[in-house]
Amino acid sequence: MDSLTLSKGAAAAVLRGHPWIFREQIRGVSGAPGTGDSVRVLDDGKCIAHALFDETSPIAARVWSKAAPVTAALFRSRLEGALGRRASLQAPSASPTTALRLVNGEGDRIPGLVIDRYANTAVLKSDSEALTTFLSKDDAKRALVEALQAVGIDSLLDRTGKHGTTGAPRAIFGALPTTEIIAHEHGVPFHVDVLRGQKTGAFLDQRENRKRVQELARSSARMLNLFSYAGGFSLRAALGGATEVTSVDIAGAAHRTAQTCFRAAGVDPKHHRFVAADAFAFLDEAKKRGETFDFIVCDPPSFAPNEKSVRTALASYRRLHLACASILTRGRNAIFCAASCSSHVDATMFLETLDDASLESDGLVLSELHGLPNDHPTLPAFPEGRYLKFAVLSS
Ligand code: SAH
Repeated sequence: MDSLTLSKGAAAAVLRGHPWIFREQIRGVSGAPGTGDSVRVLDDGKCIAHALFDETSPIAARVWSKAAPVTAALFRSRLEGALGRRASLQAPSASPTTALRLVNGEGDRIPGLVIDRYANTAVLKSDSEALTTFLSKDDAKRALVEALQAVGIDSLLDRTGKHGTTGAPRAIFGALPTTEIIAHEHGVPFHVDVLRGQKTGAFLDQRENRKRVQELARSSARMLNLFSYAGGFSLRAALGGATEVTSVDIAGAAHRTAQTCFRAAGVDPKHHRFVAADAFAFLDEAKKRGETFDFIVCDPPSFAPNEKSVRTALASYRRLHLACASILTRGRNAIFCAASCSSHVDATMFLETLDDASLESDGLVLSELHGLPNDHPTLPAFPEGRYLKFAVLSS
Protein backbone atom coordinates (compact mmCIF):
# COMPACT_ATOMS: atom_id res chain seq x y z
CA MET A 1 0.00 0.00 0.00
CA ASP A 2 1.15 3.58 -0.69
CA SER A 3 2.60 5.46 2.25
CA LEU A 4 3.61 8.91 3.51
CA THR A 5 6.45 9.67 5.88
CA LEU A 6 5.84 12.69 8.10
CA SER A 7 7.98 15.31 9.80
CA LYS A 8 8.40 14.71 13.56
CA GLY A 9 6.01 17.47 14.65
CA ALA A 10 3.32 16.28 12.27
CA ALA A 11 3.65 12.68 13.46
CA ALA A 12 3.18 13.80 17.08
CA ALA A 13 0.00 15.70 16.12
CA VAL A 14 -1.39 12.66 14.28
CA LEU A 15 -0.66 10.50 17.33
CA ARG A 16 -2.62 12.95 19.50
CA GLY A 17 -5.53 12.67 17.04
CA HIS A 18 -5.22 15.72 14.80
CA PRO A 19 -6.71 14.55 11.47
CA TRP A 20 -5.01 16.91 8.99
CA ILE A 21 -1.67 16.35 7.27
CA PHE A 22 -0.50 19.40 5.31
CA ARG A 23 1.58 18.88 2.18
CA GLU A 24 4.64 20.62 3.65
CA GLN A 25 4.59 18.16 6.60
CA ILE A 26 5.29 15.22 4.27
CA ARG A 27 8.96 14.14 4.09
CA GLY A 28 8.45 11.36 1.54
CA VAL A 29 5.83 9.49 -0.49
CA SER A 30 6.23 5.88 -1.54
CA GLY A 31 4.11 4.48 -4.35
CA ALA A 32 1.89 6.73 -6.45
CA PRO A 33 -1.29 7.40 -4.46
CA GLY A 34 -4.18 9.11 -6.23
CA THR A 35 -6.92 11.32 -4.80
CA GLY A 36 -9.30 9.22 -2.68
CA ASP A 37 -6.80 6.39 -2.04
CA SER A 38 -6.09 5.03 1.43
CA VAL A 39 -2.44 5.58 2.40
CA ARG A 40 -0.38 4.44 5.38
CA VAL A 41 1.12 7.20 7.51
CA LEU A 42 4.66 6.39 8.67
CA ASP A 43 6.82 7.69 11.50
CA ASP A 44 10.32 6.18 11.69
CA GLY A 45 9.15 3.44 9.33
CA LYS A 46 6.29 2.48 11.67
CA CYS A 47 2.67 2.77 10.52
CA ILE A 48 0.92 5.19 12.92
CA ALA A 49 -2.30 5.85 10.98
CA HIS A 50 -4.35 5.41 7.80
CA ALA A 51 -5.53 8.40 5.81
CA LEU A 52 -7.26 9.37 2.55
CA PHE A 53 -4.86 11.03 0.14
CA ASP A 54 -5.56 14.19 -1.87
CA GLU A 55 -3.27 15.05 -4.78
CA THR A 56 -4.04 18.77 -4.97
CA SER A 57 -5.47 20.14 -1.70
CA PRO A 58 -3.12 21.92 0.78
CA ILE A 59 -4.45 19.28 3.24
CA ALA A 60 -2.66 16.39 1.52
CA ALA A 61 -4.23 13.65 3.65
CA ARG A 62 -6.94 13.33 6.31
CA VAL A 63 -6.52 10.65 8.95
CA TRP A 64 -9.36 8.19 9.57
CA SER A 65 -7.90 5.52 11.80
CA LYS A 66 -4.85 4.46 13.78
CA ALA A 67 -5.51 0.78 13.06
CA ALA A 68 -7.36 0.11 9.81
CA PRO A 69 -7.08 1.18 6.17
CA VAL A 70 -9.87 3.36 4.78
CA THR A 71 -12.31 0.91 3.22
CA ALA A 72 -16.06 0.78 2.65
CA ALA A 73 -16.30 -1.46 5.74
CA LEU A 74 -14.57 1.15 7.93
CA PHE A 75 -16.83 3.85 6.42
CA ARG A 76 -19.91 1.79 7.22
CA SER A 77 -18.89 1.29 10.83
CA ARG A 78 -18.03 5.01 11.22
CA LEU A 79 -21.45 5.96 9.80
CA GLU A 80 -23.20 3.57 12.17
CA GLY A 81 -21.22 5.07 15.05
CA ALA A 82 -22.22 8.61 14.04
CA LEU A 83 -25.91 7.71 13.67
CA GLY A 84 -25.85 5.81 16.97
CA ARG A 85 -24.51 8.90 18.78
CA ARG A 86 -27.62 10.82 17.65
CA ALA A 87 -30.15 8.16 18.64
CA SER A 88 -31.34 9.90 21.82
CA LEU A 89 -31.73 13.23 20.03
CA GLN A 90 -34.03 11.57 17.50
CA ALA A 91 -36.06 9.56 20.00
CA PRO A 92 -39.84 10.21 19.94
CA SER A 93 -40.64 13.27 22.05
CA ALA A 94 -43.47 15.73 22.70
CA SER A 95 -41.17 18.46 21.34
CA PRO A 96 -39.26 16.61 18.61
CA THR A 97 -36.07 17.67 16.90
CA THR A 98 -36.09 16.59 13.25
CA ALA A 99 -33.36 18.94 12.04
CA LEU A 100 -29.91 17.85 13.12
CA ARG A 101 -26.42 17.05 11.91
CA LEU A 102 -26.08 13.31 11.30
CA VAL A 103 -22.40 13.36 10.38
CA ASN A 104 -19.96 16.06 11.48
CA GLY A 105 -16.86 15.25 9.42
CA GLU A 106 -13.62 15.16 11.39
CA GLY A 107 -15.60 15.15 14.69
CA ASP A 108 -17.21 11.82 13.76
CA ARG A 109 -13.91 10.55 12.34
CA ILE A 110 -15.25 10.71 8.76
CA PRO A 111 -13.07 13.62 7.65
CA GLY A 112 -14.61 16.00 5.13
CA LEU A 113 -18.17 14.65 5.26
CA VAL A 114 -21.12 16.65 6.59
CA ILE A 115 -24.68 15.31 6.45
CA ASP A 116 -27.61 17.30 7.84
CA ARG A 117 -31.08 15.90 8.33
CA TYR A 118 -34.31 17.87 7.75
CA ALA A 119 -37.25 15.57 8.48
CA ASN A 120 -36.82 12.68 6.01
CA THR A 121 -34.47 14.52 3.67
CA ALA A 122 -30.72 14.60 4.20
CA VAL A 123 -28.25 17.02 2.64
CA LEU A 124 -24.60 16.14 2.13
CA LYS A 125 -21.78 18.63 1.79
CA SER A 126 -18.10 17.84 1.53
CA ASP A 127 -15.01 20.05 1.51
CA SER A 128 -12.71 17.21 0.45
CA GLU A 129 -12.21 15.89 -3.05
CA ALA A 130 -10.56 12.80 -1.56
CA LEU A 131 -13.81 12.05 0.26
CA THR A 132 -16.06 12.66 -2.76
CA THR A 133 -13.81 10.44 -4.91
CA PHE A 134 -13.94 7.73 -2.22
CA LEU A 135 -17.75 8.08 -2.07
CA SER A 136 -18.11 7.69 -5.83
CA LYS A 137 -17.02 4.05 -5.51
CA ASP A 138 -19.93 1.58 -5.51
CA ASP A 139 -19.29 -0.15 -2.18
CA ALA A 140 -18.83 3.13 -0.27
CA LYS A 141 -21.92 4.60 -1.87
CA ARG A 142 -23.92 1.50 -0.98
CA ALA A 143 -22.81 1.80 2.67
CA LEU A 144 -23.96 5.44 2.69
CA VAL A 145 -27.36 4.74 1.14
CA GLU A 146 -28.07 1.74 3.40
CA ALA A 147 -27.02 3.49 6.62
CA LEU A 148 -29.20 6.53 5.90
CA GLN A 149 -32.21 4.53 4.74
CA ALA A 150 -31.99 2.52 7.97
CA VAL A 151 -32.68 5.73 9.96
CA GLY A 152 -35.64 6.75 7.77
CA ILE A 153 -34.00 9.06 5.22
CA ASP A 154 -35.85 8.82 1.91
CA SER A 155 -33.84 11.26 -0.14
CA LEU A 156 -30.23 12.39 -0.01
CA LEU A 157 -29.09 15.55 -1.81
CA ASP A 158 -25.53 16.57 -2.53
CA ARG A 159 -24.76 20.29 -2.29
CA THR A 160 -20.99 19.97 -2.56
CA GLY A 161 -19.60 22.80 -4.66
CA LYS A 162 -16.08 23.52 -5.86
CA HIS A 163 -13.37 24.21 -3.21
CA GLY A 164 -15.59 23.82 -0.14
CA THR A 165 -18.39 26.07 -1.44
CA THR A 166 -22.09 25.21 -1.58
CA GLY A 167 -23.14 23.97 -5.01
CA ALA A 168 -26.29 23.24 -6.99
CA PRO A 169 -28.26 20.32 -5.49
CA ARG A 170 -28.07 16.84 -7.01
CA ALA A 171 -30.00 13.79 -5.77
CA ILE A 172 -27.82 10.86 -4.64
CA PHE A 173 -30.97 8.86 -3.97
CA GLY A 174 -34.67 9.77 -3.83
CA ALA A 175 -36.06 12.90 -5.45
CA LEU A 176 -35.22 16.60 -5.09
CA PRO A 177 -37.93 18.22 -2.94
CA THR A 178 -40.33 20.51 -4.80
CA THR A 179 -41.26 22.68 -1.80
CA GLU A 180 -39.57 23.93 1.36
CA ILE A 181 -39.23 21.26 4.04
CA ILE A 182 -40.89 21.74 7.41
CA ALA A 183 -38.59 20.48 10.16
CA HIS A 184 -38.72 20.93 13.94
CA GLU A 185 -36.28 22.07 16.58
CA HIS A 186 -37.44 21.14 20.09
CA GLY A 187 -40.99 21.10 18.73
CA VAL A 188 -40.73 24.51 17.03
CA PRO A 189 -41.46 24.21 13.29
CA PHE A 190 -39.33 25.96 10.71
CA HIS A 191 -39.17 26.04 6.93
CA VAL A 192 -35.93 25.06 5.21
CA ASP A 193 -35.02 25.64 1.60
CA VAL A 194 -32.54 22.80 1.09
CA LEU A 195 -32.13 23.66 -2.60
CA ARG A 196 -31.19 27.33 -2.25
CA GLY A 197 -30.61 28.05 1.47
CA GLN A 198 -27.16 28.76 2.92
CA LYS A 199 -24.90 25.80 3.79
CA THR A 200 -27.20 22.74 3.75
CA GLY A 201 -30.30 24.96 4.26
CA ALA A 202 -30.05 26.10 7.88
CA PHE A 203 -27.50 26.77 10.62
CA LEU A 204 -28.10 23.75 12.84
CA ASP A 205 -25.16 24.51 15.12
CA GLN A 206 -27.14 27.17 17.01
CA ARG A 207 -30.06 24.89 17.95
CA GLU A 208 -29.42 24.73 21.71
CA ASN A 209 -28.51 28.42 21.79
CA ARG A 210 -31.81 29.28 20.09
CA LYS A 211 -33.61 27.27 22.76
CA ARG A 212 -31.66 29.17 25.44
CA VAL A 213 -32.68 32.48 23.86
CA GLN A 214 -36.33 31.46 24.19
CA GLU A 215 -35.78 30.83 27.92
CA LEU A 216 -33.87 34.08 28.41
CA ALA A 217 -36.45 36.20 26.53
CA ARG A 218 -39.06 35.69 29.24
CA SER A 219 -38.80 39.12 30.78
CA SER A 220 -37.71 41.10 27.75
CA ALA A 221 -39.84 43.56 25.86
CA ARG A 222 -37.79 44.78 22.93
CA MET A 223 -35.48 42.28 21.30
CA LEU A 224 -32.99 42.90 18.47
CA ASN A 225 -31.61 40.04 16.35
CA LEU A 226 -28.71 41.07 14.14
CA PHE A 227 -27.73 38.90 11.11
CA SER A 228 -31.07 37.15 11.56
CA TYR A 229 -31.14 34.93 8.39
CA ALA A 230 -34.31 32.77 8.65
CA GLY A 231 -35.19 34.36 12.02
CA GLY A 232 -34.33 31.40 14.25
CA PHE A 233 -33.34 33.52 17.27
CA SER A 234 -36.13 36.04 16.55
CA LEU A 235 -38.87 33.43 16.59
CA ARG A 236 -37.52 31.87 19.78
CA ALA A 237 -37.46 35.27 21.48
CA ALA A 238 -41.05 35.94 20.37
CA LEU A 239 -42.15 32.51 21.62
CA GLY A 240 -40.32 33.19 24.89
CA GLY A 241 -42.29 36.37 25.49
CA ALA A 242 -40.45 39.28 23.84
CA THR A 243 -43.19 41.69 22.79
CA GLU A 244 -41.45 43.34 19.84
CA VAL A 245 -38.68 41.59 17.92
CA THR A 246 -36.60 43.41 15.31
CA SER A 247 -34.73 41.18 12.83
CA VAL A 248 -31.95 42.72 10.77
CA ASP A 249 -30.37 40.99 7.79
CA ILE A 250 -28.93 42.36 4.58
CA ALA A 251 -30.77 39.67 2.57
CA GLY A 252 -34.44 40.55 2.09
CA ALA A 253 -35.24 36.98 0.98
CA ALA A 254 -34.20 35.69 4.42
CA HIS A 255 -36.96 37.82 5.99
CA ARG A 256 -39.60 36.18 3.81
CA THR A 257 -38.50 32.77 5.12
CA ALA A 258 -38.46 34.18 8.66
CA GLN A 259 -42.04 35.43 8.31
CA THR A 260 -43.15 32.02 7.00
CA CYS A 261 -41.47 30.41 10.04
CA PHE A 262 -43.22 32.85 12.41
CA ARG A 263 -46.61 31.95 10.91
CA ALA A 264 -45.87 28.20 11.03
CA ALA A 265 -45.17 28.55 14.76
CA GLY A 266 -48.36 30.57 15.35
CA VAL A 267 -46.68 33.97 15.81
CA ASP A 268 -48.06 36.88 13.78
CA PRO A 269 -45.10 38.53 12.00
CA LYS A 270 -47.10 41.81 11.79
CA HIS A 271 -46.30 42.49 15.44
CA HIS A 272 -42.56 42.38 14.69
CA ARG A 273 -40.08 44.29 12.53
CA PHE A 274 -38.01 42.86 9.66
CA VAL A 275 -35.35 45.25 8.42
CA ALA A 276 -33.28 44.57 5.28
CA ALA A 277 -30.13 46.54 6.10
CA ASP A 278 -26.46 46.33 6.88
CA ALA A 279 -26.21 45.53 10.60
CA PHE A 280 -23.45 48.10 11.23
CA ALA A 281 -25.49 50.85 9.54
CA PHE A 282 -28.62 49.81 11.48
CA LEU A 283 -26.70 50.09 14.77
CA ASP A 284 -25.39 53.56 13.88
CA GLU A 285 -28.86 54.77 13.05
CA ALA A 286 -30.51 53.19 16.08
CA LYS A 287 -27.99 55.03 18.23
CA LYS A 288 -28.70 58.34 16.46
CA ARG A 289 -32.44 57.84 17.02
CA GLY A 290 -31.82 57.03 20.68
CA GLU A 291 -33.47 53.62 20.23
CA THR A 292 -32.63 50.97 22.85
CA PHE A 293 -33.23 47.21 23.21
CA ASP A 294 -33.24 45.09 26.34
CA PHE A 295 -32.23 41.88 24.60
CA ILE A 296 -29.75 41.77 21.70
CA VAL A 297 -28.52 38.70 19.80
CA CYS A 298 -25.66 39.23 17.37
CA ASP A 299 -24.61 36.26 15.21
CA PRO A 300 -22.58 37.52 12.24
CA PRO A 301 -21.05 35.42 9.45
CA SER A 302 -17.38 34.47 9.91
CA PHE A 303 -15.15 37.56 9.88
CA ALA A 304 -11.93 35.51 9.68
CA PRO A 305 -11.79 33.12 6.72
CA ASN A 306 -8.07 32.52 7.37
CA GLU A 307 -5.29 33.09 9.92
CA LYS A 308 -4.17 36.30 8.18
CA SER A 309 -7.53 38.01 8.66
CA VAL A 310 -7.70 37.46 12.45
CA ARG A 311 -6.56 41.00 13.40
CA THR A 312 -9.16 42.70 11.20
CA ALA A 313 -11.80 40.21 12.36
CA LEU A 314 -11.13 41.07 16.01
CA ALA A 315 -11.41 44.78 15.19
CA SER A 316 -14.79 44.12 13.48
CA TYR A 317 -16.09 42.12 16.46
CA ARG A 318 -14.96 44.94 18.78
CA ARG A 319 -16.72 47.60 16.69
CA LEU A 320 -19.89 45.51 16.48
CA HIS A 321 -19.95 44.65 20.18
CA LEU A 322 -19.35 48.24 21.26
CA ALA A 323 -22.21 49.39 19.02
CA CYS A 324 -24.53 46.70 20.47
CA ALA A 325 -23.59 47.55 24.07
CA SER A 326 -24.25 51.23 23.42
CA ILE A 327 -27.90 50.62 22.49
CA LEU A 328 -28.58 48.08 25.25
CA THR A 329 -31.07 49.34 27.84
CA ARG A 330 -29.26 50.52 30.99
CA GLY A 331 -30.18 48.98 34.30
CA ARG A 332 -31.44 45.54 35.23
CA ASN A 333 -32.40 42.54 33.09
CA ALA A 334 -30.61 43.56 29.89
CA ILE A 335 -29.07 40.68 27.95
CA PHE A 336 -26.53 40.70 25.13
CA CYS A 337 -25.75 37.42 23.33
CA ALA A 338 -22.69 37.60 21.07
CA ALA A 339 -21.77 34.73 18.77
CA SER A 340 -18.78 33.93 16.59
CA CYS A 341 -18.38 31.12 14.08
CA SER A 342 -14.80 31.99 13.08
CA SER A 343 -12.59 28.96 13.78
CA HIS A 344 -9.46 31.13 13.72
CA VAL A 345 -10.80 33.21 16.62
CA ASP A 346 -10.72 31.11 19.80
CA ALA A 347 -12.91 31.67 22.87
CA THR A 348 -10.26 33.67 24.76
CA MET A 349 -9.69 36.02 21.84
CA PHE A 350 -13.42 36.38 21.28
CA LEU A 351 -14.12 37.24 24.94
CA GLU A 352 -11.49 39.99 24.73
CA THR A 353 -13.76 41.72 22.20
CA LEU A 354 -16.43 41.78 24.93
CA ASP A 355 -14.29 42.97 27.84
CA ASP A 356 -14.79 46.27 29.67
CA ALA A 357 -12.31 48.10 27.45
CA SER A 358 -13.99 46.84 24.26
CA LEU A 359 -17.50 47.68 25.47
CA GLU A 360 -16.31 50.92 27.15
CA SER A 361 -18.40 49.93 30.18
CA ASP A 362 -18.35 47.76 33.27
CA GLY A 363 -22.12 47.27 33.23
CA LEU A 364 -22.18 43.66 32.00
CA VAL A 365 -20.97 40.27 33.28
CA LEU A 366 -20.47 37.05 31.36
CA SER A 367 -23.21 34.78 32.67
CA GLU A 368 -22.99 31.90 30.19
CA LEU A 369 -20.62 30.66 27.51
CA HIS A 370 -21.86 28.01 25.09
CA GLY A 371 -20.50 26.23 22.05
CA LEU A 372 -21.59 23.48 19.69
CA PRO A 373 -24.50 21.10 20.41
CA ASN A 374 -23.90 17.37 20.83
CA ASP A 375 -24.75 16.51 17.21
CA HIS A 376 -21.59 18.48 16.32
CA PRO A 377 -18.95 16.39 18.15
CA THR A 378 -15.28 17.39 17.82
CA LEU A 379 -11.95 15.75 18.52
CA PRO A 380 -10.01 16.88 21.62
CA ALA A 381 -6.86 17.31 19.48
CA PHE A 382 -8.68 19.31 16.78
CA PRO A 383 -9.53 22.75 18.19
CA GLU A 384 -10.34 23.96 14.63
CA GLY A 385 -13.56 21.97 14.94
CA ARG A 386 -14.78 23.99 17.96
CA TYR A 387 -15.50 27.15 15.98
CA LEU A 388 -18.73 28.27 17.66
CA LYS A 389 -18.75 30.63 20.63
CA PHE A 390 -21.98 31.96 22.15
CA ALA A 391 -21.47 34.39 25.00
CA VAL A 392 -24.37 35.55 27.16
CA LEU A 393 -23.71 38.83 28.95
CA SER A 394 -26.18 40.31 31.37
CA SER A 395 -26.52 43.50 33.38
N1 SAH B 1 -28.27 33.89 13.11
C1 SAH B 1 -28.61 33.07 11.98
C2 SAH B 1 -27.42 32.74 11.12
C3 SAH B 1 -26.67 33.96 10.62
S1 SAH B 1 -25.80 33.66 9.17
C4 SAH B 1 -29.34 31.79 12.46
O1 SAH B 1 -29.52 31.59 13.65
O2 SAH B 1 -29.72 30.96 11.62
C5 SAH B 1 -25.27 35.20 8.68
C6 SAH B 1 -26.35 36.10 8.09
O3 SAH B 1 -25.78 37.40 8.04
C7 SAH B 1 -26.79 35.79 6.66
O4 SAH B 1 -28.19 35.63 6.62
C8 SAH B 1 -26.37 37.02 5.83
O5 SAH B 1 -27.33 37.40 4.85
C9 SAH B 1 -26.27 38.07 6.89
N2 SAH B 1 -25.34 39.19 6.65
C10 SAH B 1 -24.07 39.13 6.13
N3 SAH B 1 -23.51 40.35 6.16
C11 SAH B 1 -24.41 41.19 6.73
C12 SAH B 1 -24.40 42.57 7.08
N4 SAH B 1 -23.32 43.34 6.84
N5 SAH B 1 -25.47 43.09 7.69
C13 SAH B 1 -26.56 42.34 7.94
N6 SAH B 1 -26.64 41.01 7.63
C14 SAH B 1 -25.57 40.45 7.04
